[in-house]
Amino acid sequence: MKKILVLEDEANIRSFVVINLNRAGYETIEAGSGEEALEQLRLNPDVGVALLDIMLPDMDGFEVCRRIRAGNSKIGIIMLTARTQEMDKVTGLMTGADDYVTKPFSPAELTARVDALVRRLGVDDDEKSSTEISSGPFLLNTRNRTLEKNGERVKLTQLEYSIMKLFMENRGKALAREEILDAVWGKGYFGELKIVDVNVRRLRLKIEDDAQEPKYISTVWGFGYKWNV
Ligand code: CA
Repeated sequence: MKKILVLEDEANIRSFVVINLNRAGYETIEAGSGEEALEQLRLNPDVGVALLDIMLPDMDGFEVCRRIRAGNSKIGIIMLTARTQEMDKVTGLMTGADDYVTKPFSPAELTARVDALVRRLGVDDDEKSSTEISSGPFLLNTRNRTLEKNGERVKLTQLEYSIMKLFMENRGKALAREEILDAVWGKGYFGELKIVDVNVRRLRLKIEDDAQEPKYISTVWGFGYKWNV
């Protein structure tokens, strides 16, 4: 979980990122193009987190993200976005990224984001007690970190799994967005609250019968979300 892939075509930014991650104790693998990043991931299946630049010479970072996610739901993905448009961030998260950092970023901010994600992904559930939580048509297996709906596997990222677990452990209770952020991303996370909304929206697309009319995860206006089954 200590190996980080850094995909960035601008050599000076890449070395800035690499130097700071190395200083924070991470091993880094570098890539300057999307193809190179995908190849490096094939060669290094133990990479825990990938940092993906968006503007690249061969394909955009969202496409790289999609291709990584098509075969790997375990890896953590952080998009490095130069643009400030909200849509870019949302697009990145909808393609399966866990977080994003807007350039220019400070070494401290980047390292904090990577630390938070690594910590989140490395958290082992307490396996001594129950390994399954069921709620309505859903069955969550905390040993394998998998989710089934009506007996069929729903593919989740590690963060989506953590959100589902939080919901299923708190059925019928309105959870504040801050509470979800603290529980899933960790108290040290200093990103925006909006990331909760984007992940919930993505989760709804995967688990709801109709994401436009969500019945399992309802919105508690001005507050947060509630799990209803
Ligand atoms: Ca670039």
